[in-house]
Amino acid sequence: MDFPILDLIDNELATDWLLNHFHPHGLKCPHCEAGVGEARCFRQTTTSQLPVYRCLLCDGIYNLYSSTVFQQKQLTPAQVVLLLRGIYQGESSAQLARELGLSRPTVHCIRHAIQANAQAMQPNSPVVDQQTETDEMFQNAGEKK
Ligand SMILES: [Zn+2]
Repeated sequence: MDFPILDLIDNELATDWLLNHFHPHGLKCPHCEAGVGEARCFRQTTTSQLPVYRCLLCDGIYNLYSSTVFQQKQLTPAQVVLLLRGIYQGESSAQLARELGLSRPTVHCIRHAIQANAQAMQPNSPVVDQQTETDEMFQNAGEKK
């Protein structure tokens, strides 16, 4: 069952949440690392309604989604929060697309980009402890086909 969940999320609160999670040390110019205090807001994106900043030090342009998988995507902050939540919870791309008013290819593309990032962040080194609990070994055994 699809829920009209997008209408229940406040875009300003979603923006604050994304700012804290995407840029925990504060929004910075992706070109020269200058803080957003050294930039001026010169317009808003049309669909996402995000402020677009021009860096006063390097003239670079950026917004909340710059250097993330959501760069160049016209998603509202509420759509991004709910999409992240849905992907994390394993909702299907079809359901997420319907609930969030997005196309399936868009959801599919973002899901793959997030999964590729998560995989790239996995450590390559073996686990340090010498013992493996039996229940850990078989915990996900029934979920794979
Ligand atoms: Zn800059």
